[in-house]
Amino acid sequence: MRVSFPYMGSTIVYGKLLELLGHQVVMPEPPTRKTVDLGVKYSPEFACFPFKVIMGTYLETLERGVELFVTTGGQGPCRAGFYGELHKKIIQNMGYDVDFIVLDPPWRDYEKFFRQILTLKGDNSWFKVAEVIHTVYKMCKSVDIIEKLITTVRAYAGDRAALNRSWRDILTAYSQIETARDVARVEEEALRVIEKYDIKLPPQEKRIRIGIVGEIYVVMEPSINGNIEEILNSLGAETERSLYLSTYIDETIFPWIGRKEKKKLIKKASGYIDLNIGGHARLSVGQIVDFKDRGFDGVIHLKPFACLPELISESMLEKLSADLDMPILSLSIDEQTAEANIMTRLDAFVDFIKYGKAYSKERVSLSV
Ligand code: SF4
Repeated sequence: MRVSFPYMGSTIVYGKLLELLGHQVVMPEPPTRKTVDLGVKYSPEFACFPFKVIMGTYLETLERGVELFVTTGGQGPCRAGFYGELHKKIIQNMGYDVDFIVLDPPWRDYEKFFRQILTLKGDNSWFKVAEVIHTVYKMCKSVDIIEKLITTVRAYAGDRAALNRSWRDILTAYSQIETARDVARVEEEALRVIEKYDIKLPPQEKRIRIGIVGEIYVVMEPSINGNIEEILNSLGAETERSLYLSTYIDETIFPWIGRKEKKKLIKKASGYIDLNIGGHARLSVGQIVDFKDRGFDGVIHLKPFACLPELISESMLEKLSADLDMPILSLSIDEQTAEANIMTRLDAFVDFIKYGKAYSKERVSLSV
């Protein structure tokens, strides 16, 4: 069966999971202008932006003979829970003969979840399934570790283009792994490659560290958020996101692993958002406080147009910025967003942080 999935973040991980389970994987391409236009054309006007992009990706991938899409549902009061069903209805109404597996958290409906897992399991033994999950989970963690390292050191790299090429080669190496041992080998090689660039981090007070929070799709998908991390790195700022694929997996599929971190963030968000209002809004607010506690210099909040949960967290930003004495920039992303617009605002934001740091140092030395 030819299987595919939505494009979001580290897609090589989803592809590897299905491939190791013996499915014929049709890898989706990174979303382009054409993908967005296609998605916008066939989506309800007021659907949130990620819905439209995913719709465009499905339609492009369908041209390559996909028979089954595997995707995840949503939890909590937000529209992500309807995505799968609505995509399926629209696509089937367009005349495509394609099936969907929408994986919701198992506790919603154990029987349905088990049936879906059986379809994905195919003829594999349960032992093989456990082995594949172990390998892919390790791969996911490892890719995230290396990506965090890249978005730190790239801010100081002399030859950023070469480092980007090496990062692409590392991802290709990850996409060829077969076992957990391969993951460890690729990670070691990746660390060796990065070390060869001999990038020295400046002293702590000279580093500019920016956290990125917000809705999962726009935070994790560079082709949609205007490649925000690469731009910030090119402006001399390190970046770290609130969400990586492994964070999301720990939070939804293995909640006992991510429980401690989630509880910590909910506690940090208290007083600003005390209810689960859907998406990652409450956690975004907790993450902003956490970034401040960890000594970050600023935060960028990303919100897809028409995202209700992030609209609520956005309304807290002014107060958060004043309470924490930290600059926060909020960007709304939709089909009209141009990279030049994002670039200009990021440039101004990083300058603002740089001057703020220089000025506060001057103030300290004057008062001494
Ligand atoms: S979090 Fe926001 S953008 Fe994502 S599905 Fe929910 S409402 Fe839409």
